[in-house]
Amino acid sequence: MTKTVLITGSTSGIGLGIAREFAKAGYQLALNGLETNGAEIANAVGAEFGVKTFFSNANLLQPDAIETFVREAVNALGPIDVLVNNAGMQFVSPVEDFPTAKWDAIIGLNLTAAFHTTRHVFKGMKARNWGRVINIASAHGLVASEFKSAYVAAKHGLVGFTKVLALEGAPHGVTANAICPGYVDTPLVRNQIADQAKTHQMSEEDVIAKVMLVKHAVKKFASVESLGALCVFLCSEHADLITGTALPVDGGWSAQ
Ligand code: NAD
Repeated sequence: MTKTVLITGSTSGIGLGIAREFAKAGYQLALNGLETNGAEIANAVGAEFGVKTFFSNANLLQPDAIETFVREAVNALGPIDVLVNNAGMQFVSPVEDFPTAKWDAIIGLNLTAAFHTTRHVFKGMKARNWGRVINIASAHGLVASEFKSAYVAAKHGLVGFTKVLALEGAPHGVTANAICPGYVDTPLVRNQIADQAKTHQMSEEDVIAKVMLVKHAVKKFASVESLGALCVFLCSEHADLITGTALPVDGGWSAQ
């Protein structure tokens, strides 16, 4: 039976990379994101891999929009077997100056939205005795950096939420895991490298090694393909016992 995966924030960056790996493995995709060409991106992935897709531009800061997104995805593709909570955002500021609206949005998107998507699919997963929840946290779900209070709080919260889901899902064949990437090679990060190289008058190689990847023991970015492949593995029969984990893909950052 063809399985269906719902991935939030999947018309850009890591989410799109994850979507492509699931499509390659034959899954039907429910995609989501705020990119204005999101529907085209979803159609292109579906056409490339010959799988059925559904797209929603639901704003995940709105619980009603999340409910509609999940309902419409189920109507279009059938029950959700795999949920990947990927959408996230970042803002950097000393805590005393942190804008409260930014705090609310970061907690809302990185943590609360995952609660809402999960509560709409979890009952069905339990009833069907199989399901997978994968939360894209961050190395910042395991360790902190200064000036990232909301992001670090949200990602640590997401790791805690994952553990609870693992316990509640365990009697019903439902696993839940968090993936904790270090820096990932996305177009956004590539643009940041180019900007920093200009600002600091450094080569892009030096920016990568001395600025961006200073906390990685392995001086390499994670790839969106490797994160997608890990998600697909977590849905395989070999991963039945992997649950409640926070898996670092961070080049040894969190080992220090
Ligand atoms: P990105 O900005 O490229 O993509 C984010 C996606 O979320 C986009 O599709 C965007 O439209 C969508 N989105 C944003 N706000 C939304 C909203 N309110 N409603 C619906 N969709 C919304 O980001 P990315 O770098 O691919 O990051 C994806 C996830 O990975 C995030 O949770 C991020 O915290 C995490 N992460 C990223 C890195 C990295 O180096 N890029 C490292 C660790 C963890």
